[in-house]
Amino acid sequence: MKRAYNFSPGPAMLPGPVIERLREEAGDWHGTGMAAMEMGHRSAEFSSIAEKAETDLRDLLSIPDSYKVLFMQGGATAQFAAVPMNLCAPDETADYLVTGYWSRMAVKEGARFCHANIVLDTADNGDTSIPEADRWHLSDQAAFFHYVDNETIGGLRLPTVPVTEAPLVVDMSSSILTEPIKVEDYGVIYAGAQKNIGPAGLTIVIVSDELLDRKGNDKKGAIPSVLDYRRMANAGSMLNTPPTFSWYAAGLVFEWLKAQGGVEKMAARNRAKADRLYRAIDDSDFYANPVATKYRSMVNIPFMLADENLDALFLEQAAERGLTSLKGHRSVGGMRASIYNSMPDEGVDALVEFMGEFECTNG
Ligand SMILES: *Cc1c(COP(=O)(O)O)cnc(C)c1O
Repeated sequence: MKRAYNFSPGPAMLPGPVIERLREEAGDWHGTGMAAMEMGHRSAEFSSIAEKAETDLRDLLSIPDSYKVLFMQGGATAQFAAVPMNLCAPDETADYLVTGYWSRMAVKEGARFCHANIVLDTADNGDTSIPEADRWHLSDQAAFFHYVDNETIGGLRLPTVPVTEAPLVVDMSSSILTEPIKVEDYGVIYAGAQKNIGPAGLTIVIVSDELLDRKGNDKKGAIPSVLDYRRMANAGSMLNTPPTFSWYAAGLVFEWLKAQGGVEKMAARNRAKADRLYRAIDDSDFYANPVATKYRSMVNIPFMLADENLDALFLEQAAERGLTSLKGHRSVGGMRASIYNSMPDEGVDALVEFMGEFECTNG
């Protein structure tokens, strides 16, 4: 099987061994004569798949028993609405830290369901750095504080967990499972699956029991059942048909991560991959990344060519070598290499080598 080094931001590359497992088990899961995606979601077989995936995820992230893990749908975008719907009343205030494209989308959607206070917007510096917390305009009694851990498009990340009185809600769509986290720091962690977890269609929500039972929830408006954390938790995420294929495939990714030695091991590898690529960019006058070093993403690395007229040629020649999906987001331009857990070291090596040769020929 010929596999490209796929630098797509999402849906993103999956680990080779997971693709193999999917192929092997495609028509016959463990001698049942059924594919996982053909099973009833309440069958004993699928229940075992679903439970194992949750147990492995809890292991990988050391999720305490006092947190629920929900397997939802609608992507991170549905969570932009679900978070305020579940956590505050329409007349209450929530704080939003805005550091790029996705936090801007989150606040825009959130403002439809609560009073959204923007504590800081990094648009002032072109999303290249994040001013320290003493410059943030926090509100007095925020129902929650929302931020995006890693901005997938700008390649910008908050290097430390914010310290706030309000419970933290974090969008970890592009960074979950790439490094260890302390789940207890957060009230809600959510992530669309298609970057680091598995195929699109699944959204993971990790929510503290404390927030589920929070006083003031009774002041909320009507919430669609499938977005209601408490209802979903009570139904074991099976209020209706869950995205069974994505859930199953995510479970295979979790097994693979455990076999790799877990999230700490992945973090060390991810750090080394990112350092290698940033060094190649910084050591050249031909490539540039505008983000201040301290705030650079470990997994989404945008870079510009000295002459944007060469962008098309760069993409074409990269693709000829099996280095695909490097085109930057339309709002940023240039290139972007997304190097999540599934991207092997060799993929980054091949990219760095190609960049060097391209610069020699065209620089
Ligand atoms: C991709 C992404 C989103 C949007 O995810 P959907 O699942 O398409 O709704 C939101 N936030 C971040 C940080 C992302 O990377």
